[in-house]
Amino acid sequence: MLNRQGRPTQAGEGESQHHETFTGNRALEQIEPLIFEIGHHETTGVDIEKPAPFASRLGKHARQGEIGLPGLSEPEAMRHYVRLSQKNYGIDTGLFPLGSCTMKHNARLNEKMARLPGFADVHPLQPVSTVPGALELMLELARYLMTLTGMPAVALSPKAGAHGEACGMMAIKAAIAARGEGATRNVVLVPESAHGTNPATAALVGFSVKPVPARPDGTVAVEDVRALLGPEVAAIMLTNPNTCGIFEPQIVEIAAAMHAAGAYFYCDGANFNAIVGKARPGDLGVDAMHINLHKTFSTPHGGGGPGAGPVVLSERLAPFAPVPFIHVEKGKSRLVEHKADAPAGNDPFGRMTAFHGQMGMYVRALAYMLSHGADGMKQASEDAVLNANYIRAGLADLMSLPFPDHPSMHEALFDDDWLKGTGVSTLDFAKAMIDEGYHPMTVYFPLVVHGAMLIEPTESESKASLDLFIATLRDLAMAARGNDKSRFTSAPHHAPIRRLDETRAARQPVLKWERPAPVQQAAE
Ligand SMILES: *Cc1c(COP(=O)(O)O)cnc(C)c1O
Repeated sequence: MLNRQGRPTQAGEGESQHHETFTGNRALEQIEPLIFEIGHHETTGVDIEKPAPFASRLGKHARQGEIGLPGLSEPEAMRHYVRLSQKNYGIDTGLFPLGSCTMKHNARLNEKMARLPGFADVHPLQPVSTVPGALELMLELARYLMTLTGMPAVALSPKAGAHGEACGMMAIKAAIAARGEGATRNVVLVPESAHGTNPATAALVGFSVKPVPARPDGTVAVEDVRALLGPEVAAIMLTNPNTCGIFEPQIVEIAAAMHAAGAYFYCDGANFNAIVGKARPGDLGVDAMHINLHKTFSTPHGGGGPGAGPVVLSERLAPFAPVPFIHVEKGKSRLVEHKADAPAGNDPFGRMTAFHGQMGMYVRALAYMLSHGADGMKQASEDAVLNANYIRAGLADLMSLPFPDHPSMHEALFDDDWLKGTGVSTLDFAKAMIDEGYHPMTVYFPLVVHGAMLIEPTESESKASLDLFIATLRDLAMAARGNDKSRFTSAPHHAPIRRLDETRAARQPVLKWERPAPVQQAAE
């Protein structure tokens, strides 16, 4: 069936279809076609004068035929984009329990600071003498990051966590090459529970990857690491707290073993939110660690351009930090743009980005730090851990914990053992959460846990919000165990788009819009 806009309606897709509306809309949830599908060539939002007659100098390069841009009036364009914006689920619409992603509230104060014209309008090609305030802000952010991590250096320019991983691993590679071991030290150890970016980064930078087996209790054992060490091992990439939400109890011993073998310790710091103000990675023996400003320091995920993934570096790796960086000497700061300008003793491995990194994110992160203060950042970590454990305690009698003997840090990890025999999978359970108005938690990650469900509430949530979330999951869990299978296997029932063929979308992505055949033909 086609609705008024000539698009197929979703009738018959599930039992939740009470009756079809004429427009295809469902109350405030309005169908929104692509802008190309609603535009008309004869319509425009602006009133442009016909140009005076002119002679084209394009010759045979002049465009033949229509340009094909959508034409809309201003209110039509406005409605299109506002409707699209309303289809977002974000941290501003509800609890966003994605484990490992730390979807915390983005304080509006940070946004206000980032919009100050002196920061928002700064251009990377402006003369350095006109931007002392921006440099000062970057230095202050660097000082905070070094203090919180107990590390002596930081490279600010990487634009995301994975980009930071690349930066840290390139610094390690440069340090090994400087020791004359570039040809022989080329293996990186990565635990089986690691985020996929870790082995991908190691491989991208030119190392070969050796997995460290997962221990049954979800942690990495120093004996297992020692057994893999040799003159060919360059580094280990270890996440702490790890992807199971557990603080690695042998992290100090693992760092010492790496160093004794002449190798480095790269720490994936994506979960730094659990330990800010409580433990300093520098004290744990870390050589390089990225910090996702969009996780721990509440800058927006994804929205508004690239993020920032600064990398803190140990004394041994600091000389290899990439350009550009700010060098302070006798109280004067100077921007080092090229390898040749680097102060004596420095040997930058290269550069990660065209310019200096993501200024807007620096401003937001520093605003977060300054508004919280040292005590506030510590409390945020404590509250994040408390909230995760509150969820764990509220669900542990219904849903199974793979590692019941370790307390959770900032996220609670469940497996699918409790779903055995119900005919409901982790995916089905996650889809049913959409019907309840929640973004699902992270599922099937970490890979070492069967049917993993990783819930990270962050410190932003109130007790009332956590209680409602727990009550909702309890209701779902009891329905799953009580044979109410249809609530799950065909969920989501209330979402505008139902189950997608995710495999096909990944394997055969449709990346180009083609003008559809006229409606009469398509409708047959
Ligand atoms: C988020 C995350 C990353 C990657 O960070 P991006 O900023 O998304 O590139 C790496 N490791 C872990 C454990 C993460 O949670």
